[in-house]
Amino acid sequence: MRIKQRPRVAGIPVDIDWRSFSLGAVLPLPYLAQSLPADERVLDWLPVLLGAGVLAGILLALGGLFHELGHVDAARLVGLAAESIRLGFASRVTVFPGEAPQSLGPRTTLIVVLAGPLATLAYAAVWIAMRPLVADVPLLGPVCDLLILVHVALAAFNLLPVGPSDGRLALTAANRLLRSTARPAH
Ligand SMILES: [Zn+2]
Repeated sequence: MRIKQRPRVAGIPVDIDWRSFSLGAVLPLPYLAQSLPADERVLDWLPVLLGAGVLAGILLALGGLFHELGHVDAARLVGLAAESIRLGFASRVTVFPGEAPQSLGPRTTLIVVLAGPLATLAYAAVWIAMRPLVADVPLLGPVCDLLILVHVALAAFNLLPVGPSDGRLALTAANRLLRSTARPAH
């Protein structure tokens, strides 16, 4: 029996739920259609509009991958090898062996956890830098604006200490770090 090979990015296996692409491609369509000049009929632009949707879907998924690669690279820096990256339908995660990186001490955890939102901000910064080049191009300009908005917002949401977020892991690690460095009062 042939075992399906997972694609590898930067030496790490990536499990992709391809439905996330379709979600990323379809959700921006109303916004992209609204960005067309007022005197243009949406149906006349349909092939280009769908193309812009697919492009947005791919670039949004790439942003998710970029975030997880931030965790992976930071982990490598502190000597921890991630097992794989999972890009799910509505979630994405880097899989580490066992309880890592939380088991490796608060400083390590902080570095690995914060690298994800930082990578997301770096991805947004790439599109902020690209914006002057594409701002006036129909559909491409709005796709660029969407990528900036979504990734700045995602980085902010990631840092909120609610649910199983990077923010919560970072806050827990920061607490542990403060407690371990605090000296007892005399
Ligand atoms: Zn993350």
